[in-house]
Amino acid sequence: MEQGNQPAASGTAEVHRLFEQKGGASVGLGLKYKDNRHIFDERGETVPYLEFPLLRDSGIVNHGFSTRLGGVSEGCFSSMNLSFDRGDRPEAVQENFRRIGKAIGVECGDMVLSQQTHTTNVRLVTEKDRGKGIARERDYTDVDGLITDVPGICLVTSFADCVPLYFVDPVKKGIGLSHSGWRGTVGRIGQKTIEKMQQCFGSDPSDILAAVGPSVCMDCYEVSEDVILRFREAFDKRVWGDLFYEKSGGKYQLNLWKANEIIFREAGILPEHMAVTNLCTHCNSSILYSHRAQGNRRGNLCAFLALKKD
Ligand SMILES: [Zn+2]
Repeated sequence: MEQGNQPAASGTAEVHRLFEQKGGASVGLGLKYKDNRHIFDERGETVPYLEFPLLRDSGIVNHGFSTRLGGVSEGCFSSMNLSFDRGDRPEAVQENFRRIGKAIGVECGDMVLSQQTHTTNVRLVTEKDRGKGIARERDYTDVDGLITDVPGICLVTSFADCVPLYFVDPVKKGIGLSHSGWRGTVGRIGQKTIEKMQQCFGSDPSDILAAVGPSVCMDCYEVSEDVILRFREAFDKRVWGDLFYEKSGGKYQLNLWKANEIIFREAGILPEHMAVTNLCTHCNSSILYSHRAQGNRRGNLCAFLALKKD
């Protein structure tokens, strides 16, 4: 998310202090959802995370989405920063990964991290990749989507307003996880991830469970006309009214959640197999990192998805 920086959200330290004092997530995180749909469960105690009931109920995955709470990082990284590339202490980030991994039920040595540059490249992750990006160096670049069918390997992608996409095929036992900012969304990385699962695992889209994770909502996402021109090219005119509207001064509000839902539907995902976020990172920037709220002085959230070991 590159455009526009607003002042840092106030009250972050207060939220984090209350969380510690009250003894963790068991009292609720105080997240503000956009509607009453039950898309997420808030899980974890001292290290909270968000979970999709849709994916959990498949019974074959461990997964989650982190918050800012429960880590050891300080200052603008407070406290669960999961990026080694933003100036935080590496030991703190490593400890954060260990903590969130323990909460979700995955180990750092089994994680495989993306190398995100707003592409639509999707990598097939195999046994040889185990630990890359955290326990050892990555030997790949420009990877915004990951798929695997290896039990135990945990796919990891990172976020601070951009859109996380989760895919679980309970029939062929394959999974996918992608990073879809506006460029990835225009390039349909969601569709490309599904197609890669079809090629590599023989997945049928009508079997795949697909979820859109916490990210910036339409109300919080102003873009300029050059972005909208790309969406006009990429999407049928009949859905433009659902995707964006024009304000004064050549500015628009853009709905990345709806765009990814349309991409899912057009790729053959069934409505009853979809969960689309009602949780905005920017509306909740004291609990979730938001690029548009914090600018570059922030940490990263991560999405985690692993097939359970047999
Ligand atoms: Zn919002």
